[in-house]
Amino acid sequence: MSGFSTRAIHAGQNPDPTTGSVIPPIYATSTFAQDGVGGTRGGYEYARSANPTRTALAECMAALEGGRYGLIFGSGMSTTDTLLRVALRPGDHLLIPLDAYGGTFRLVDKVLSVWGIEHTPVDLSDLAATRAALRPTTRMIWSESPTNPLLGIADIAALADVAHSADIRLVVDNTFASPYLQTPLALGADVVVHSTTKYLGGHSDVVGGALVTDDSELAEQLAFAQNSVGAVPGPFDAWLTLRGIKTLAVRMERHSDNAERVAAALARHPKVSKVYYPGLPEHLGHEVAAKQMRRFGGMVSFEVAPDGGDDPAAEAVRVCGATRLFILAESLGGVESLIEHPAKMTHASTAGSALEVPANLVRLSVGIEDADDLIEDLLQALG
Ligand SMILES: *Cc1c(COP(=O)(O)O)cnc(C)c1O
Repeated sequence: MSGFSTRAIHAGQNPDPTTGSVIPPIYATSTFAQDGVGGTRGGYEYARSANPTRTALAECMAALEGGRYGLIFGSGMSTTDTLLRVALRPGDHLLIPLDAYGGTFRLVDKVLSVWGIEHTPVDLSDLAATRAALRPTTRMIWSESPTNPLLGIADIAALADVAHSADIRLVVDNTFASPYLQTPLALGADVVVHSTTKYLGGHSDVVGGALVTDDSELAEQLAFAQNSVGAVPGPFDAWLTLRGIKTLAVRMERHSDNAERVAAALARHPKVSKVYYPGLPEHLGHEVAAKQMRRFGGMVSFEVAPDGGDDPAAEAVRVCGATRLFILAESLGGVESLIEHPAKMTHASTAGSALEVPANLVRLSVGIEDADDLIEDLLQALG
């Protein structure tokens, strides 16, 4: 297999055979002409089932994650929903991370629970706790590494052993790392899931999702379910994502460079009581992260020391509103830096649950601007 960037630029994207177009065309069509009944050209009949721009992205994603089958969805959440409804049945149970992505928690807690699917939040960095949480009905371990927003690290190879000893599947939401930094299938995971909205798209201009697996039976069931429920992206969305992916490797290197510098600057600041970044040697998951990731990525969270008033969130909220370069917004993984307050924004749905995040936590998506400008902005906001 060729190197990562070569795959990112070429996999699934040979020049168009009819025109030589170097870039895969945006096939803006809902249906495809047939040469006689049942005589499709290249297998395309109706665009909910398949579209060539989407196929190019699916092949590219499979190549990047080192898996045989790639499927592309309209969002990260529709990817998760389709996978969970195909892999689980009423009465089945799954483990999710203690600080799972808020939308994943909301999906299992509010939507799938109604259909009899049960879940337990567990600290997946604790293998003994993970084993202890397994029930006879547990069918899946759903993991994220690094987690959102606390940047917790799960040992993917060890989790795969736990899952496979129990004859169940390990799924890894690889959104925070991107396939450039980490490839979970190679570490033993059964399915890898992405919100391509984040680093893969990389420019905050498109919402999408993807999954990759080596399991042919599961891939076939997923394609059937996807076509049945219609959880598909349009061709322009697939095309934008393909364009973003071409620069993934250089962007991830720069995100990692900048985040390392930002994390170090925050760790030295008197108003910052804790920094969460797997690249810091004192981070609990640092060694495992160093083993399974190429670098440590662009996400940094930190706790702002409370100002002594009644509201423990006040100072963190103030900082989120005081940056000039970091834009106050949800989402992550774009070239521009973003700042947000998880307890009141991305993770508001976890309030009062086991997944509740610290009130004084701030999350950064460190972009690829000049690191000096980013650090100066944070220092002036902290005051
Ligand atoms: C954003 C995100 C999702 C959901 O993806 P959407 O594209 O917003 O539907 C899932 N997991 C993680 C870790 C995310 O950051």
